[in-house]
Amino acid sequence: VRAVVRAQSGKGIEVVDEPYPEARTGYVIVRIKAAGICGTDLHTYKNANHPQSQSALLRPLGHEGSGIVEEVGKGVEGFDVGNRVTFNPYASRVGGFCGVCESCLRGEPLGCTKRHLMCAGGTMAEYASIRGDALYRLPDNISFEEGAMCEPFAVGLSAVHEVAGFRTGQSLCILGPGPIGLCVLLAAKLMSPSLAIVTGLSADKSPRLELARRFGADAIVNVEEEDPVERVMEMTKGNGVDAVFEAIGVPLVHQGLSMLKFRGRFIGIGHPMWAGESEQPLIRLTVADYLNMQHRRLSLTGHWVYDTSTWVKMMDLLKAGAVDLTPLATHRLPLNDAEKGFRIASRSECVKALLIP
Ligand SMILES: [Zn+2]
Ligand SMILES: [Zn+2]
Repeated sequence: VRAVVRAQSGKGIEVVDEPYPEARTGYVIVRIKAAGICGTDLHTYKNANHPQSQSALLRPLGHEGSGIVEEVGKGVEGFDVGNRVTFNPYASRVGGFCGVCESCLRGEPLGCTKRHLMCAGGTMAEYASIRGDALYRLPDNISFEEGAMCEPFAVGLSAVHEVAGFRTGQSLCILGPGPIGLCVLLAAKLMSPSLAIVTGLSADKSPRLELARRFGADAIVNVEEEDPVERVMEMTKGNGVDAVFEAIGVPLVHQGLSMLKFRGRFIGIGHPMWAGESEQPLIRLTVADYLNMQHRRLSLTGHWVYDTSTWVKMMDLLKAGAVDLTPLATHRLPLNDAEKGFRIASRSECVKALLIP
């Protein structure tokens, strides 16, 4: 079985032959049809010690994927050989949550304090062994490529609908038009926003900002040419937006807070590159920022992945044809070209690169 793993040297990746996975009790063998290269995989590629690179622990790599059920292990209900599937790598039971800590008892297994593994996967291979309770049947109208992009879309959906509590007709600004920023936009468009602004750099013009336009952004702000805070204030007649989503991996908290209206929310999604334990704080807030936050009742919220409920909702939306993820896939490469795929995925001319085994 051809598979992408972390290179022996600890730096970068390599394509190797791995044994065919065993269909253990509770697991399903999936013949992978498409696997996405994610920002966190790139952290693995550049620096394996990134604390958020759960996917760095995976062998084979990859937590985004779709495929066809090849074998069904004992104890798995609801799936048959030949089913088209995708999967939630952070599904409750996948990571081995304890079930008895306070968070687990409250029904929030993502917050489990004793969880031993957060992320499941192994999708960058011809076959992957995946827990049955993490699988979702792909609706017939959804392609394998879209299926492989469900995971990043779930991040956007969760950020907008669950964490930001975004309501119909509200306004937003997305900092960064990468795959997650664009997924946030797709999720927000489902709520008919009154104004959707996306910021980016000159290098993002094509295809990222073009795609933002196509997905229905009302305004694009090139931060190299104009001041994003001024532009947002101008467009909102000095009121600001209801929500700012940071999707770059650069914590632009000062900038984001300055764009918000009363009771606005800043949602931080991007993971910064890991530069080791730095003594310098990454985020600097002035007294004025802090007072702004207090007087205007702003909130600063962190975001990461999604809940199981997000996946159920997403599958309904996809089945209903409410959203089309296909345009996100800008590059497709055979599994053997994974190295090239990782290089492409780190560049701004790529939105989502898929490996096709
Ligand atoms: Zn991902
Ligand atoms: Zn627990």
